[in-house]
Amino acid sequence: MNSPVARPRARARTSPAVVAGVDTWKTGPTFRLSSFDPSSTPGAPDGDRNKTERASAELRNRLRDLHGRLIGEKQRSVLVVLQAMDGGGKDGTVKSLYLGLNPADASVQSFTVPSEEELAHDFLWRIHARVPKRGTVGLFNRSHYEDVLAVRVRNIEPKSVWEPRFNAINEFEHVLHSSGSTIVKIMLHISKDQQRERLQARIDRPDKRWKFRTGDLEDRELWIEYQEAYEDAIRRTTTPHAPWYVVPADKKWYRDFATLTILVNTLEAMKPEYPLRPELDGIVVP
Ligand code: ADP
Repeated sequence: MNSPVARPRARARTSPAVVAGVDTWKTGPTFRLSSFDPSSTPGAPDGDRNKTERASAELRNRLRDLHGRLIGEKQRSVLVVLQAMDGGGKDGTVKSLYLGLNPADASVQSFTVPSEEELAHDFLWRIHARVPKRGTVGLFNRSHYEDVLAVRVRNIEPKSVWEPRFNAINEFEHVLHSSGSTIVKIMLHISKDQQRERLQARIDRPDKRWKFRTGDLEDRELWIEYQEAYEDAIRRTTTPHAPWYVVPADKKWYRDFATLTILVNTLEAMKPEYPLRPELDGIVVP
């Protein structure tokens, strides 16, 4: 198990953009959510907000270059799954990551309560239709994991329905991986106190009211059940080809840095390269 609390990494390194390795946030089959402190900042340059924001800007530049290569290569895709409790910062993370992507070859898909049409199919039907195509990066704002989280905690379906979904998810993600998709799953982990502040701001601030759903308060009452369901889901669906990362997300500047680091590291490991196209050697445009 790798806890960001227990293993603050690599503060001593000098280049701010490479201070953290993805192992900082990696989980495994025995991980415990409670060992991740949502307000911690492991790997952030000197734990300092300004330095970390500069590092994030540098990471976005690297992301832009890597995404350009992925687009040019047109062979593979990256799927980033974002899950969090309400107020966990999914929208903010999408905004932050998108700044480092080429919008023409990036997509954002939000999954809300399934429609009648979607419910008339298997739970992966609507998901599969929206996975990123080759050469693109797709960001999922919620995902098929709602079908083993919300569905389980809110008792929408019995255990006999959601339990087999863990295997189905692992198989589905394996299929995506085998056809050239690199999958990165990130839980943005906030504390219950931080959630209270963010939900209260949605009630108090006129510019945020549109975000508030009364269902947010019902889910807040089920906080413990959700934490348990997240822990179980992450344990059971952490695979070599589709790892889960848990990012402490009480501090937005840190959350952005961590999620950018994960995506940049993932793309760097893929080593995307522009195609050489030797058939163009020597051609002169008249
Ligand atoms: P968000 O809270 O992500 O900003 P919404 O306010 O539209 O977006 O809420 C989405 C809601 O849809 C969440 O409460 C989520 O749990 C729910 N949801 C998403 N997928 C499913 C699903 N498969 N089954 C039941 N509820 C789902």
